[in-house]
Amino acid sequence: MNINELLRENLKKYSAYEPGEQPSNEGWIKLNTNENPYPPIPEILEDIKNAVNDKIRRYPDPTALEVRKAILNLLLRDKDTLTNRNTVFIGNGCDEILDIIFKVFVDPGDEVVFFYPSYGMYKVLASLYNAKINEIKLNEDFSIPDSAYTAKGKLMFINSPNNATGNSYGNATILKICSSFPGIVVIDETYADFSDKTCLPLLKKVKNLIVARTFSKIFSLASLRFGYALADATIIKEMNRVKLPYNTNYLSQIAALSCIKHRDKLYEQNKKIIEERNRLTEELNNYNGIKVLHSDTNFIFVKFDDKSKTLKFLWDLKDKHKILIRHFNKPGLYPYIRITIGTKEENNKFLDVFRELANKYL
Ligand code: PMP
Repeated sequence: MNINELLRENLKKYSAYEPGEQPSNEGWIKLNTNENPYPPIPEILEDIKNAVNDKIRRYPDPTALEVRKAILNLLLRDKDTLTNRNTVFIGNGCDEILDIIFKVFVDPGDEVVFFYPSYGMYKVLASLYNAKINEIKLNEDFSIPDSAYTAKGKLMFINSPNNATGNSYGNATILKICSSFPGIVVIDETYADFSDKTCLPLLKKVKNLIVARTFSKIFSLASLRFGYALADATIIKEMNRVKLPYNTNYLSQIAALSCIKHRDKLYEQNKKIIEERNRLTEELNNYNGIKVLHSDTNFIFVKFDDKSKTLKFLWDLKDKHKILIRHFNKPGLYPYIRITIGTKEENNKFLDVFRELANKYL
C-alpha cells in the first residue's frame, strides 16, 4: 500500500508550521519563541496544584462558562467591549481559534487574505483548508497598503501588534478595513496586552469582526493552551458547533481563572517586560549598523544594515553562548533578527554577549 496515494490532495503542496526551537536540556537563555520570561506566580501554581484532584476523572465544562464569565466581568471589564457571555469563545490557545475560524468559514477555493510578513499560521491554515491565498505585502514600514481596502474574500487576518515586526494597526485602519471587506476580519491580538492598544471596543458596532486573544503571553500559560475570542453571538455560536467537545481541559480552565483573579499582580509583572523592552531598544539603538523597530509586544525586531551579519550573530549566540533568538529565512526578512524580552538578568547577559559580537562583526 502506498500511503502517499491515500493522502488528501492538497497535502502534496502543503508546508507545515515550523515552530521555534524548544531545547529539552537545561542552561539555555530562550529568547526565541515570545514566551513570558516569568513563571506563573506562586498563587496560580498553588491553584493548579490544588485542582489536581478527583475532578480530572470527569470531562471538563465544554464551553468553560466560569472562565467566559470571568473574562467579561473581570478581565475585560474596563475595555468597553461586548458583555454577553454568548459573545465569548474559549479555545485551546489562539492557534486553535484560528483553525476553528477556518472550519466555520472556508470551503476549498474560498479566498483568504493576510499580510506579509506576519504570523506564519495564517498561510499554513489557508493551505491546509485549500483556500485561495491573497497574501498582501505590507509597506516598507510594515503599515497596511492601500490594496487591503479593495481586497475581497471570506476571511482577512490582521495581527496587531504584528509578529514579527512588532507594530500595531490603529482602530481607524481596522474600522476602514471592516467596512470595505465583504467577509470576516480577524484581529489576532495575541500581543496586545504589551501595549495599551486594542480594537475590542470596535466589537460593539462592527459585526464582521473577530478578536482573538491568548493566555500564553502575559499570563505565562503557553503550555496549558488557553485562548479566547470575542465576536457577534451568531459567529460564536457557529464556532461552538464545529469545535471538538472538550477543547480546553479542567486544569487549564482553573489556571485561566486563577490568572484572572490575580491579574493585577500579573499586569504589574508585565510592566517589567515593557520596561526591559524599552531598555533593550534604547541600548541596541546605540550601535551603528543596526536599527531596532518600535515594538508594542514582548519582543523586538532588529534590522542589520548588512544582512550577511544576522546569521553570524544567530550562530555565535546559539553555539558559543547558549542564547536562542529567531531569524526568518524568508524573502525580505534576512536582515532582521527577533529577540524575545527575557528577565533583567537574561537581557543583561544578552547585551553583554551582543557587545562582544558587535566588536567582532559590526
Ligand atoms: N498568534 C500569534 C501572532 C502568535 O505569535 C502566536 C504564538 N506564537 C499565536 C497566535 C498562538 O498563540 P497560542 O499559544 O495562544 O496558541
